[in-house]
Amino acid sequence: MYYLRDATDAAALCAALEDARRLVVVGGGVIGLEVAAAAATRGVEVVVLEAAPRVLSRGVPAAVSRWIQRLHESHGVVVCTSIGPAAVLRSEGGAVTGVQLADGTVAPADAVVVGVGIVPRDGLARAAGLAVDDGILIDPSGRTSQPNVFAAGDAVRTRDPGETPGIRLESFTAAGRQGEVAAHTVLGEDDAFTDVPWWWSDQYDATVQAMGTAPAGALQEALDVPSGLIVLSMIGDRLVAACGATHGPGIARAVRAAGPVIAAKARLDLDAVHATAGDLAGLAALLRAAVRPH
Ligand SMILES: Cc1cc2nc3c(=O)[nH]c(=O)nc-3n(C[C@H](O)[C@H](O)[C@H](O)COP(=O)(O)OP(=O)(O)OC[C@H]3O[C@@H](n4cnc5c(N)ncnc54)[C@H](O)[C@@H]3O)c2cc1C
Repeated sequence: MYYLRDATDAAALCAALEDARRLVVVGGGVIGLEVAAAAATRGVEVVVLEAAPRVLSRGVPAAVSRWIQRLHESHGVVVCTSIGPAAVLRSEGGAVTGVQLADGTVAPADAVVVGVGIVPRDGLARAAGLAVDDGILIDPSGRTSQPNVFAAGDAVRTRDPGETPGIRLESFTAAGRQGEVAAHTVLGEDDAFTDVPWWWSDQYDATVQAMGTAPAGALQEALDVPSGLIVLSMIGDRLVAACGATHGPGIARAVRAAGPVIAAKARLDLDAVHATAGDLAGLAALLRAAVRPH
């Protein structure tokens, strides 16, 4: 059974995939799907088990989940949703032979990758008496509940004074910037972590990118774009998130252009969005214009 947390794990998994013919991946999140893509590309038969009704459900809108699932299926990956593993089956010698699913069926496997279960390592913070609630709580300047103690990275959750509850951001762009903000604050410089969350994933020839977070109830406008789609999440006439996927890197520019619009809480005219007819350069230009002084 393999996990993928660091370079040693990656090396062990690569070695296992040299011989494995069948792989079961537990978890259809970013790590599970990237492993599935890498293994399928090497010719390994892959089954992905996802407990939620759709893959990448924490990070992308439903339309993008469907697109990504179809992408994997087109490469021969079997994606099972709303189901999890009941047991890992082993031979008498202890080698993995398969995974029994919660409905009793068995997915044969020579190797299993577990891509679920990230929990913040907050023991030190708890022992130090810092406020912890699904992550070490920090304010936008990086301060924990003890004003002289700072924290940054995957293990923190920002106490968000805005309308959305703070979330833990598990990406290195956020981790790096939070560290920088904490350092500036320690040095007495004014700085705050207010960055719009952004992440990406490359699977096969496809690029998935997401900017911002869409609270429940946001209106989701899906647009077909050349060889993919983009979903814009709106609260009223404000863009709060943009997420898309394309074969090739085509989606990147439009999603990146959404960042300043989301940060500025600028208005976005959906009629004008639809008038771009999915032309990504036109959409990116429209997004840039939304934050340009008139
Ligand atoms: C397989 C994989 C793929 C990823 N791909 C991407 C990607 O494509 N894009 C992206 O943005 N992000 C990606 N991430 C997430 C990204 O790696 C993390 O968001 C980022 O590394 C978080 O930085 P960090 O400093 O908070 O934690 P880490 O990078 O985990 O660093 C924390 C360090 O602190 C050490 N440590 C822990 N406790 C203690 C202690 N008590 N005392 C001293 N040291 C301690 C740990 O050993 C570790 O070295 C990926 C993660 C994984 C696992």
